[in-house]
Formats: sequence, C-alpha cells, structure tokens
Amino acid sequence: MSTLIKNINLLVPDGRIVSGQDVFLQNGVIMDIGVNLPQHARETIDGTGKFLSPSLPVTHAHSPMHILRGLAEDVGIEDWFNKEIFPFESKLTPEDVYWGSRLCFAELLENGVTAVADHYFFCEEIIAAARDAGIRLDLAVCTFDFNFEEMVSLTKQLVAQYRDDPLIRVRYGPHSTYLLSPDHLKQIVEMAKADGSSIHLHCSESKAEEDNSQAKYGKSHAQIIQQAGGFTLPCLLAHGLYLSEYDLKLLGKDTWVSSAMKTYMKLGMGEGTIFINHDKIHHSFGIDGGASSNTANVLEQARLFALAGKWHNKAAQFTLADLWKTLQNGHQAMFFNTGKLEKGAPADLIIWDLNQANTLPLYHPLAAILYSSDSRNIETVFVNGKILKKDGILLQDTAELQAQVLSRSNALLKRGKGEANVTF
Ligand SMILES: [Zn+2]
Repeated sequence: MSTLIKNINLLVPDGRIVSGQDVFLQNGVIMDIGVNLPQHARETIDGTGKFLSPSLPVTHAHSPMHILRGLAEDVGIEDWFNKEIFPFESKLTPEDVYWGSRLCFAELLENGVTAVADHYFFCEEIIAAARDAGIRLDLAVCTFDFNFEEMVSLTKQLVAQYRDDPLIRVRYGPHSTYLLSPDHLKQIVEMAKADGSSIHLHCSESKAEEDNSQAKYGKSHAQIIQQAGGFTLPCLLAHGLYLSEYDLKLLGKDTWVSSAMKTYMKLGMGEGTIFINHDKIHHSFGIDGGASSNTANVLEQARLFALAGKWHNKAAQFTLADLWKTLQNGHQAMFFNTGKLEKGAPADLIIWDLNQANTLPLYHPLAAILYSSDSRNIETVFVNGKILKKDGILLQDTAELQAQVLSRSNALLKRGKGEANVTF
C-alpha cells in the first residue's frame, strides 16, 4: 500500500511550517519527503493549499465511558464518582465496554487522534474495539485492591501477548494511591519492571484527596508513588493537578503528566498548580472519560487549558508554538514512535483543510488550528499508513455503531445503578 501526497505544507512538531513538499508513504511508514518526488503510488493526493502534520495523541482516557456520556451532569466530583459513575459502572457489561470504546475511538479518529492511552477494565473488549476501529491503543489494566490478584495476572498475560504488536500495547494500571495500598503499588511496580513494562495511574486529582493522603500516610500521592519506585520506570500520571514544588522533584525523566482541563472545569476541581507547573513537567493532554469531559477532542482540551491558563494568570503565557508542542508531546509518552514528520517514522498523520469559513484567513495556520479549527478541518487521517478518514468522512460503519450505542444505553438505563465496589 502506498500513497503520494503532492505539494503540501508540512506543520512539524515544533510548530514550523515547510511549504510545497511531497510526502511518500509506503507500508505504514513515511518513506520520503522532498520537492517533486519521483515516486509513483497507488493513491495520489493533491495537497495544494493544505497542511500535513503528525496526528494528535491522547495520554489519558477511559474510552468505554462514552457509553455513560451525559448521565452525570451538574454534580461535584465526590457525588459524580460515588452517587453516579461507580454505581453505574458496577453494572456495565462487556458489550457496553466494547461499543462505548468504539464510539470513543470513532470520535477520536474524527478529531485526528491516532494513539490513545486508555485506563479501564474489560480489557479484551477495549483491545477488540481498538483493533476493529484501527486506532493505536496503549492500554493500562485498571487495578484496585479488591481485584488485585486477578488484574495483575491478566496484565502480565496481556503485556506478553502484545509486546510486539505495532498497534496495541498493554501496561500496568494501578488505579491510584487512594484506591490501592502502597504495598500493592510497590508489587505492581516490581512486576512492571520485571516485565520491561510501565505504569499509568491517577495522581493528585483533587485537593481533598491530597489532604486525605497526608492524613492517612503523612505523604502526598507523588511521594507514595516515588517510594514504591514508580518514577524509575516509564510512568503516565493522570492529572497531577495538585502536585507541589516538592512533588515535582520526585518525578522521573520518563514521567509524563496528562491534563484534561474540561474535566477540571466541569467537575469544579479547581486549577491546582497546573498552570504554575506546566513548564516544569513533561506535559501532555488527555481526554479523561465521556462522562466527565463529554468529548473525545484533545484539541479542545489543549485550547481550554491555554485559555483558562491565560485567564487565570492574566497573561498571554501559552504561545501557539508552546501549545502545539505540548499537544504533540503525548506521542513521546507512549511507545509507538509516532509524532514525527521525517523519513522512517510511522505514517500517523493528519491532512488539514483550513480553507474554510471557520479558519480563514490564514495569517498563522497554527492559530487557525489551535483556536478556530474543529473536526471539519481534519480532512484525512492516516494510522500506520492506512486512511481511516477521507475527504472529511470516517471510513467505518457509523450506522451500526449508532444503533448499537442506542440499544446499549437504553439497556443500561433499565438496569440502573448497582452497588459500587470502591469509594472516591
Ligand atoms: Zn482518569
């Protein structure tokens, strides 16, 4: 399979633009970039006036929660978890997880996301959904104290099974230091190290949880993770909203913080220290879940982060290039080697059509993308060289997806809430 994109403007990860280039893709890889390339391909795309960039990564998601989208609105974070989400989740079926994930993956691809770091249970169903959607999945197996033995043995098996898969990777997913004991966390870190794997967990999500951690252990969440050895291996930290100056010193060279500003705004979680810490951490963006952020749109998360930050700091602190780089950073937090516009890199790419009413005039294409664009401007999406969105249309059976989601959501409402296994 080969594609030649002719005469397109490249938008590289550091925000620079290189005009009038041809890009040749073959066998899932960028084979060549240059002016007037001689190659012939099975498919040729005229890129005149358009922009080609690496795709967008998402470093924290609960994709199956798209099946719960719109179910828990206008409540604070404690009621959101304890009175709504955990009780509904206790009755989720594998089919709900599969179709919830398919819905989320469709929306991610629509929005130019080709790699997502997910954190949930019913992992086989999420993997099947990613495979069927064609998206790259970096999956953490969500593990609590109450299901510890079962989940770590499943993780071990899945890590080995998908070790060499180009599109699916599995890692350990301790839920958090508030729903998992320090001893269990330490055991997970040791297993992840022995397997050559990594971890993905929640950390420092709310002020109350940080206070509880201090009261219970005399330590912050980050201190507990550090003492378990969690920062000596690749680590995805979801949120890190209340990391202190002291906590920052504990983070490792391969620790990545994932922010989902829309969730913080919706659940009234405050901004914590994230606008102060932005420049001091390896920062990236996630989408959290459909029940908290409502959209699978990482560009929206980046935009809200920058706007809320400027508003909060009363300063134009987040430049276009800085925001674009932070958005692209997430590729480095996963293991797919994506996020590069160079020879030999995997062909996970977006063709942007910015010649539309919502983005013209194009004084600065990055401004158009970061502050004006939406999915209508994402004309074509490649994952591993394969086109999954073309001419603005998602290439999958969306009618079946919609019918399945409707029927699952009706059944879910009929079943109602169950008994939660955990408390936030
Ligand atoms: Zn989360």
